[in-house]
This record gives sequence, structure tokens and C-alpha cells, in this order.
Amino acid sequence: MEIRIVQATPDKLKQKPTDESKLGFGKIFTDHFFTVKYHGDKGWYDPVIEPYRSLELDPTAMCLHYGQEIFEGLKAYRGKNDEIFLFRPTENIKRMNASAERLCMATIDPDLVMDAIRKLVILEKGWIPRGEGTSMYIRPTMIATEPALGVHPSNEYLFFIVVGPVGAYYPEGFSPTKIFVSDEYVRAARGGIGAIKAAGNYAASLFASRIAIDQGYTQVLWLDAIQRKYVEEVGTSNIFFVINDELFTPPLAGTILPGITRDSVIRLARSWGIKVDEKSLSMEEIVAAQADGSLKEVFASGTAAIVSPVGQINYKGQVYVINGGGIGSLTQKLYNEILQIQYGEKEDPFGWRVKISG
Ligand SMILES: *Cc1c(COP(=O)(O)O)cnc(C)c1O
Repeated sequence: MEIRIVQATPDKLKQKPTDESKLGFGKIFTDHFFTVKYHGDKGWYDPVIEPYRSLELDPTAMCLHYGQEIFEGLKAYRGKNDEIFLFRPTENIKRMNASAERLCMATIDPDLVMDAIRKLVILEKGWIPRGEGTSMYIRPTMIATEPALGVHPSNEYLFFIVVGPVGAYYPEGFSPTKIFVSDEYVRAARGGIGAIKAAGNYAASLFASRIAIDQGYTQVLWLDAIQRKYVEEVGTSNIFFVINDELFTPPLAGTILPGITRDSVIRLARSWGIKVDEKSLSMEEIVAAQADGSLKEVFASGTAAIVSPVGQINYKGQVYVINGGGIGSLTQKLYNEILQIQYGEKEDPFGWRVKISG
């Protein structure tokens, strides 16, 4: 399918931000976006990159009532010689289709999505910031648009991609976060939709997250839904523990998001000869490891921050300071390595980097 491109007229072009230190995250979007529509009778049709605009939806569009809405998040990085790179984009596209399958939404041709990302990012190349750690965030989204009430899978969908410049996650360097263990509210149960990037998961997480924030914590550490015992994820990131010389992370058992950064961390660590165990760890085991000094590092992983060191954990009112509140050496090494691969500053032994321009 050929993607039409409708350019915004020069008078409609937005002012690009001038101060890259003030980009923040998710506030600025570019001049164009991509859309493609789906109808059960004709499949996907009319892919187009067009001037950024509001969407028009019928008030009964099914996404507004029954929550068939999924998304992805990835980034485009500008290298030193103005080359533009993506990081493992086919993994995001695969995961988007896995999310679509799980919510009975239409799956989409991965080549069309890749073509759309590539063309949109190249068209908006001038918006990709240059500062260290900055990038262009890419948000593919799919919503159910059939105008109908009654719970059933929608017969119509809109898939769109918006992009926008985002600032460095750590403008002042790495800073360890404080996390709050939620033993009252849970994120996902086995058999539910915790393993997909469905909008509803994030709505469901807000209440516990607010409780954590009100008490001065950055994020929630989620426990398993049944026993409220085993660690699952932190906020919207995967979680890792370094105990002695071994790296632990919860297994992909249907309740956590199969993070692409998680997978990259596991592969890199193994390639460095570190033993990685995908195993459920209970809070009791973590508290015990902290008490006997074998818990060396805790960090979260995700596209936004790559890895994010955890400095404090509040569990049942007890505060545990990890690694003296400092940044672990493995956390730092993983961060540097992945960042350098993403920006084209290092060998890419796994073939993760995709150069799309330059
Ligand atoms: C997106 C996300 C992650 C991280 O996935 P990446 O592919 O590494 O960005 C982890 N957990 C949740 C709940 C997420 O939504």
C-alpha cells in the first residue's frame, strides 16, 4: 500500500522549540501525523501522512465506551553525523499486533507500519533534537471507531502515529528514584491484559500511583494479584534486581509487559557473562537480600529512561535504601551501552539499530 503524503502549507507550520533543555516529555508534537483506516469489509485503507489535526469521532465510537485502545512507544535518535536511528522497531510493531489480537482488534501489516514510521520521521527530521539524551518520541496508536453501542469487537479502527521531540530523561545525570510497594491495589492478574500495551491498564494504575506520589514516591512497585507477594513491575517499566553477582527479573508469565528494553538488558548482561534468572522474587526474599547485604542494585527498564536506578523502596511502611542510595555499576554500564548503541556511537553486535536516514 502506497502512503500518500499531504504536506502542511508553510503558513501552517509550527514554531519548533528552541531550548532543548525544556522539551520535557509528551507535550510537543510535530506538523504531520500518519493515519490509516480499517473496515471489516475492506481491510486497511487510505494510509496518509497529513497535517497534524484533531480527530473527528462519533460520540458512540467504541473506543470511548468499551476501551479497545492500544499503543506503542519508541524513539528516533539523531547520531553525531546527523544519521537518524530507530531501536528495534520491529519488536514494537510485533507487540502492537499482539496487543491488537488480545483485544480482538484488527492486526496491521508490519511493513506498512514500518514504512509509515520511516516516512513520518524522515519528513519531520528537522524536529529531532540534537542535545545529549534527547530524541523524537514515536507513538503508534490504534482505536476502535465503529459508531455503535453494545459490547462487541468494533468493525472499524483508526491507526495513527504522532511524533514529537522529547528531552533527556536525566538532564542532570542519573538520579535514583523512590518507589512505593502497593500491597493493596494490583495492576494485572494472570489471564488479564497485563502483557499488552492497552490504554485501560494505565487508567487502572492511576489510583495506586497517586497514593505513592502523595507520600513522596516516584512510582508504584506492583505485586502479583493473587498473593500480593511477588514483584511484578515498577510503574510502567520492568524491574531488575542484582543479588550477589546475579541479575533477576520477573518472568513473562502474562501479567507483565514484555519490555523491549527488558529483553535488551537481559541479552547484553548475558553477553557480558552475567547470569540472568527470569524468576519471580517475593518481597520477603528482597528484604532478606537487603538485610544480608546481597542486594546490590535495583533498576527499572523502559524506552523512556533506558534504565532507572531505584534508590529507595517503601514496603509496609519500612524504607529500604538500596546500595546506599547510589547508582549501581551494572545499572550505569547498561545505561551507557544501550544509549551508545541507540545513538550510533558503539558497535551494534545484536543488530538492534536501524538507520533510516543519513
Ligand atoms: C511500555 C512498558 C514497559 C517497557 O517496555 P519497553 O518496550 O522497554 O519500552 C514496561 N512495563 C509497562 C507496563 C509498559 O507499559
